[in-house]
Amino acid sequence: MTPGTVPAAPVASGAVPPGPVDAAGAAELLRGASGVLVLGHVRPDADAMGSAVALATAVRRVCVPAVVSFGGPDPVPGPLRTLDPDGLVVEPDEVPARPDVLVCCDTSSPGRLGSLTPLLDVARVTLVVDHHASYTGFGTHNLVDPRAPATVALVHRVVAALGVPLDTAQARALFAGLYTDTGGFRLGGADALRLGAELVDAGAEPTELLRGLSGTSSFGWLAALATILAGARREPDAAGGLGLVWATVDAATAERYRSEVPSIVGHLRAVAGDGVAALLSEISPGEWSASMRGTGVPDLSAVAGRLGGGGHPGAAGVERAGPVEDVLDALRTELAVQAVTGDEPDLGDEPDRG
Ligand code: AMP
Ligand code: MN
Ligand code: MN
Repeated sequence: MTPGTVPAAPVASGAVPPGPVDAAGAAELLRGASGVLVLGHVRPDADAMGSAVALATAVRRVCVPAVVSFGGPDPVPGPLRTLDPDGLVVEPDEVPARPDVLVCCDTSSPGRLGSLTPLLDVARVTLVVDHHASYTGFGTHNLVDPRAPATVALVHRVVAALGVPLDTAQARALFAGLYTDTGGFRLGGADALRLGAELVDAGAEPTELLRGLSGTSSFGWLAALATILAGARREPDAAGGLGLVWATVDAATAERYRSEVPSIVGHLRAVAGDGVAALLSEISPGEWSASMRGTGVPDLSAVAGRLGGGGHPGAAGVERAGPVEDVLDALRTELAVQAVTGDEPDLGDEPDRG
């Protein structure tokens, strides 16, 4: 140092006070990190994957090391890997043991990090970027906005605050999350459409992107789907008379058709009218993941929340162990209670899926 000069003030780590942050605050946390591990929820969807990949790419661009991972038990579905051409995603057993800054994308509660949940206890800073009304408040810092149509919309703001121009891979990753969480822009209004247009301008080409995301299925999937849908049941009196349509997927089928199974609830929803659709898939023997869709009345996020899960008023999920009849009974009970007692939620920008 030249005599007489004053040393630059050290980058104050921890200068951003804990609690809610805006995009600029999130960017400051990331810039000040010695390393960043970006996580999304277990069994990631395009919003979790797209958010994590686009954010980690931006963090690398400002010269901070960053990787992405998703807790087990399940691996990332093949079609989602098309959103990670640069290979930022690492296996859960390869993540840094003590990440400096941990970012949790599209993750409303600690348990949604699956096998990586214990990292919350060792990271210096945990920043949650999420849009779930059921966000539990975990983490040291959070950028959480339930009005956002998808977590990618929040990540987009953080990337801009980092001063990083979007590359094609980031635009594709963000577009994928926005498209799926808004149900193909059915939700999210003009803001979602404007963001979508900006992402297309930045290189997300929808036709090719969506073809890659839906992947290709084996011919056997047709028969499996037919069997699952033939087993669907309708209970007109459920959910306070709005009705419930449900179906189940056994463990072997859920494992074999992991990429395809999340789409089934859409078929059930199409015939559920004003009622609720629920798909119960056996994620391991005796353990069920219930994926629910509805109009927002009753509020499925409240229903799932009381059973230990979460989500949005019109799309929520929960995991339960036990015989499938018990899981169904728990759903029937909570749907009935919520239909009678529930206030109508604000459905302004209600996300479609995850
Ligand atoms: P899915 O039915 O898996 O597409 O999820 C619908 C919505 O519920 C998404 O916002 C998920 O993040 C959320 N969700 C699903 N399962 C759970 C769970 N076990 N705990 C909390 N939120 C969940
Ligand atoms: Mn989401
Ligand atoms: Mn999600």
